Amino acid sequence: MALIVQKYGGTSVGTIEKIKKVAGRVARTRDMGNDVVVVVSAMAGETNRLLGLANQLSELPNERELDVVASTGEQVTIGLLSIALSEMGYPARSFTGFQIPVLTDSAHVKARIRNIEGATIQSALKKGEIAVVAGFQGIDETGAITTLGRGGSDTSAVAVAAALSADVCEIYTDVDGVYTTDPGICSDAQKLERISFEEMLELASLGAKVLQIRAVEFGMKYGVRIHVRSSFNDNTGTLVTKEEEIMETAVVSGVAYNKGEAKITIVKVPDRPGIAAKIFKPLSDANIVVDVIVQNVSVTGHTDLTFTVGRSDYKKAMMTTETVAKEIGADKVVGNDKIAKVSIVGLAMRSHSGVATKVFETLGAEGVNILGITTSEIKISCLIEEKYTELAVRVLHKAFGLGKPANA
Ligand code: ADP
Ligand code: ASP
Ligand code: MG
Repeated sequence: MALIVQKYGGTSVGTIEKIKKVAGRVARTRDMGNDVVVVVSAMAGETNRLLGLANQLSELPNERELDVVASTGEQVTIGLLSIALSEMGYPARSFTGFQIPVLTDSAHVKARIRNIEGATIQSALKKGEIAVVAGFQGIDETGAITTLGRGGSDTSAVAVAAALSADVCEIYTDVDGVYTTDPGICSDAQKLERISFEEMLELASLGAKVLQIRAVEFGMKYGVRIHVRSSFNDNTGTLVTKEEEIMETAVVSGVAYNKGEAKITIVKVPDRPGIAAKIFKPLSDANIVVDVIVQNVSVTGHTDLTFTVGRSDYKKAMMTTETVAKEIGADKVVGNDKIAKVSIVGLAMRSHSGVATKVFETLGAEGVNILGITTSEIKISCLIEEKYTELAVRVLHKAFGLGKPANA
């Protein structure tokens, strides 16, 4: 008898019919003699709808209240799934983040889990119940409701699996595993049987939304076996696992993209020690994550400094940066919130040369201008105009031989 955590994403619970199907799969897992904890997302489109309501009232809604609104989507699903299971004769009990509790920090809309109390779920399992847990949500130490950032139910599931020392955490979604790139963009993308935590971490952080990055971090830290698979069929999916367990490695394992980027440039920044800290401190104080930073060489004692932030932080970041720019005597601030980042990831890149050149040549041949570049040992990312995203993904995927062979 195993302890299995199953997470079902928005599309998998998008309608009452689909919730019944999920209940059927959960019941089958239970019938095999396993203890089952289910973590669910809000029904497809629901979180967007809820956030949209708040945005009708304010351009920059108070984030504490935004979490109160956004977290309700998951509460509906846990209730519905528990009802569906009970109807089928399987005792089930729903739990909100508050009831467990899932303790997080207070960074509203992107909170991080600090601790999950396993005892409440354990006692439900002991009674023979199926525990149905709301993903995406927690509470901070003052009791305020928090949410974990978009796609956060993945993280809830892996963190619950870690807290309960579950045998496996199954992530059920609308594709049957992790692919060489988003199968929605490249029809010849291939499913990976296994992927290392390191590569998955990069792909997730670079935009492959099939797993939220914090979920991969938890999995890596606590050694949780993560199996990404489809809720619509019984195919074996992709196992996210330790590097040692991967047999063969391609130079490039995958291509990721993130359309949700924004670029801010401060023009004519005085080039003095301490200025960068002055610029970035207010941004980190405002909980804004800065990604790529590019600074030009200064010839005249002034430099242009460009950085990127997530698009949802763009307005807040522009306001913060404009204030700082005045304080330090910079010329002006210009921004563009239609930026995308396209990246290639692969463990074997560490020991191969010429990979970056191939990326630049491939994009150049298609007339895609590169606005910024960052690299790590196992990834290369390029900032580009958002309208070229799909094109860039397809040509890179092809250039690195990731597509299915023509006759497959
Ligand atoms: P869920 O609602 O189940 O959490 P998501 O929409 O968050 O599902 O994540 C699944 C989606 O991730 C897929 O439909 C696919 O479009 C996208 N995706 C992006 N990159 C990849 C990839 N490399 N492999 C698989 N799916 C990917
Ligand atoms: N419902 C949340 C979202 O749409 C969390 C999730 O689905 O993982 O982002
Ligand atoms: Mg998701």
